[in-house]
Amino acid sequence: MTDRALQNRLPPLHQAAPRSLYVHIPFCASKCWYCDFNSYVQSDAAKTRYTTALLRELALLAEEYQTSGDRLRLDTVFFGGGTPTELPLCEWERIAMGLREQFAIDESVEWTVEANPGSKSDHLLAALALLGVNRVSFGAQAFEDDLLKAIGRRHDTSAIEQSVALAMSAGFSRINLDLMIGLPEQTLANVQESVRKAIDLGVTHVSVYGLKVEPGTVFARRQAKGCLPLPDEDLEARMFEEARARLAAVGIEQYEISNFAKSGAKAHHNLAYWRNRPYLAAGAGAHGYVYGMRYENVKSLSLYEESLTNERRPLANTRAVSAQEAMEDSVILGLRLREGVQKAAFAADHGVDMGAVFGDVIRPLVECGWLLEDAASYRLPVALLPVANEIMLRFLRE
Ligand code: SF4
Repeated sequence: MTDRALQNRLPPLHQAAPRSLYVHIPFCASKCWYCDFNSYVQSDAAKTRYTTALLRELALLAEEYQTSGDRLRLDTVFFGGGTPTELPLCEWERIAMGLREQFAIDESVEWTVEANPGSKSDHLLAALALLGVNRVSFGAQAFEDDLLKAIGRRHDTSAIEQSVALAMSAGFSRINLDLMIGLPEQTLANVQESVRKAIDLGVTHVSVYGLKVEPGTVFARRQAKGCLPLPDEDLEARMFEEARARLAAVGIEQYEISNFAKSGAKAHHNLAYWRNRPYLAAGAGAHGYVYGMRYENVKSLSLYEESLTNERRPLANTRAVSAQEAMEDSVILGLRLREGVQKAAFAADHGVDMGAVFGDVIRPLVECGWLLEDAASYRLPVALLPVANEIMLRFLRE
């Protein structure tokens, strides 16, 4: 097939119905000093208006993407933020009812809600479990009170322990903790302690993220003034390796660059992203990928609500993904996973073998041991996952 023919054909991936839904809840109790996510401190009245708009958007999405008149079946639903547990229970009840009206959701769906440790989310957890939420992801970040204060978090270590215990007693068997490394004045001992506490709490999934200083944040301003004492690259790499080794020692295995899980506890919603599956997204600033189009919603809450009051999708922009770009996405996202890119899945999604498209990139990488090939997959050696970006870039044609 010529390059132009490859570029112009419609890959099977772009004819597949989405089975995942991301919902953005843009509310937080306060703004953390490193955060540039689309989140705001708002009143309960504003949360009610937002929920009303969100329910309209879900109805529009359901109508647009239903198949042959049947409600679209979802396998995973993920509420991220922001802090979704900043929504009061009455809004969650409306959302749960709206979701079930608009989409086909059964007990097998993986329904995750992000939460922050601390008072507000605690009383909600049991109620969310009754509404059908079956996975909770806590933004713990660290188990050192001074460090939590120094990054602008509102909770302390005891709040994390209390929230995890409450989640377990509410019946959640799938619990994630987010941990951060590379924080100002963080030491290797701090990271060891965070990982030890996470393990002791008995959670099934841990995400370990390095701090990125984003423009417009408190940390960016401090860095510009030269008063943000961050660990150097070598120390941050040692922090990550320390976390990886300690988690692996207790059977919480790395399955993606930043994610670790006990057996059977991988996040299916996130796996759908990394396997380059299509997904719907709703909420202010949310991004979706469906039938070959990537779309992004408006970030502003007032524009979001105004658009939906007028029964219009709140789109900021849409972009068609070419067949070539879709193949590059499948490789770049798939190489984040330890399982790598599955040859059969690539061929099914794109109608062509990965080796036929990227052979010139694959061969030298395999020869020098930077890419492993077996009958079923191409994957990176575990030791190279921390520098995966440098290898992935070679698969970009432009
Ligand atoms: S809780 Fe999360 S989304 Fe909210 S400000 Fe902090 S980092 Fe950002």
